[in-house]
Amino acid sequence: MDYLAHFESTLHALKDERRYRVFATLERQAGRFPRATWNSPHGPRDIVIWCSNDYLGMGQHPAVVDAMCETARTTGAGAGGTRNISGTHRAIIALEDELADLHGKEAALVFTSGYVSNLAGISTIAKLLPNCLILSDALNHNSMIEGVRTAGRDKVIWRHNDLAHLEELLARAGSRPKLIVFESVYSMDGDVAPIAGICDLAERYNAMTYIDEVHAVGMYGPRGAGIAEREGLMDRIDVIEGTLAKAYGTLGGYIAGKRMVIDAVRSHAPGFIFTTALPPAIAAAATASIAHLKVSQAERAGQQVAVSATREALVAAGLQVMATDTHIVPVVVGDPDLCKQASDLLLEQYGIYIQPINYPTVPRGTERLRITPGPFHDQALVDELARAMVSVWQILGLPLGDSADTNAVPYN
Ligand code: PMP
Repeated sequence: MDYLAHFESTLHALKDERRYRVFATLERQAGRFPRATWNSPHGPRDIVIWCSNDYLGMGQHPAVVDAMCETARTTGAGAGGTRNISGTHRAIIALEDELADLHGKEAALVFTSGYVSNLAGISTIAKLLPNCLILSDALNHNSMIEGVRTAGRDKVIWRHNDLAHLEELLARAGSRPKLIVFESVYSMDGDVAPIAGICDLAERYNAMTYIDEVHAVGMYGPRGAGIAEREGLMDRIDVIEGTLAKAYGTLGGYIAGKRMVIDAVRSHAPGFIFTTALPPAIAAAATASIAHLKVSQAERAGQQVAVSATREALVAAGLQVMATDTHIVPVVVGDPDLCKQASDLLLEQYGIYIQPINYPTVPRGTERLRITPGPFHDQALVDELARAMVSVWQILGLPLGDSADTNAVPYN
């Protein structure tokens, strides 16, 4: 076999389908978020990032940066091993204690990313439950889908946020063990799960619940513990999963729950056992970020102001903004080429960076620019964004109307 030719043909196929990814090389500058330098083909350019998942700018917060630097200076750069083999340092235990407290749970377990938390958490829990049926929301993130696959258990997909469908599937499952996996804020549409209804059904049909709050922790609830906290539901959910890489601005992921469940995952999950622990500096930075956002409301409030201002400006400009109640503001383009072109024009002509979101991340025909305003996007930046998007829409002949805030994006 000509191996190189084979790989080349797979890349050609991606390019033909307009799915080949090109990454912009950026340099973020602490203290200047959301401004950054883009390493453009014509040299460095000052740009504004509108699609970051460092949602609250905590990656540049002095308390977080100081914790990282000071810890690296005192403990060294790496963890030194897996958790089992010398890698369980004090900073990671402090982080797990902080996370358990955040969610009001008995215990928490930290992984190297949110992705790994889902992969390891879901697969291990389902594998440990004999004959478990996994019920997975249709829009779950790839990390959850991989967790479900790796479990090797039976699975059924329930229509996105459809409680009646979930109930039908639960009723059909009988008395076997059941694990319901879902998100709170869905990352690409920005809509929110009916968590209370899911908990009601889980209790009625004796199922376990596993929620991904990756796009909610830090940002919702009085202490930033997520949507379940905001709705007073944390104690009705068995496992809460989150990331330290988005609103908390660092790196890593975790699950929190009853000590017995967390200990079982700790003791059985290959994705936890056979990999090096997070460095102490990152653990300390994440702990500082969580501790800050537990008490400070300023970042959450600032984000909500920026989200409302952005949404209002874009809707007033006639752009097709999907209706959401969260900080995720998707503007639908509906075509992969046009979406890429819109993104390129915004960056090249206006210094505005919004990565296009195409299939398979979202269904074909719903390609979009996913805008994530944060506390550092002020009104001047919002106005600049709206003006630039209108110009780009006009250049590309994309529809601009007196569109209301609409959710008219079909999924099937
Ligand atoms: N869950 C969801 C819903 C996500 O969107 C993501 C990342 N985009 C993850 C999990 C993975 O989190 P991390 O980036 O920390 O690996």
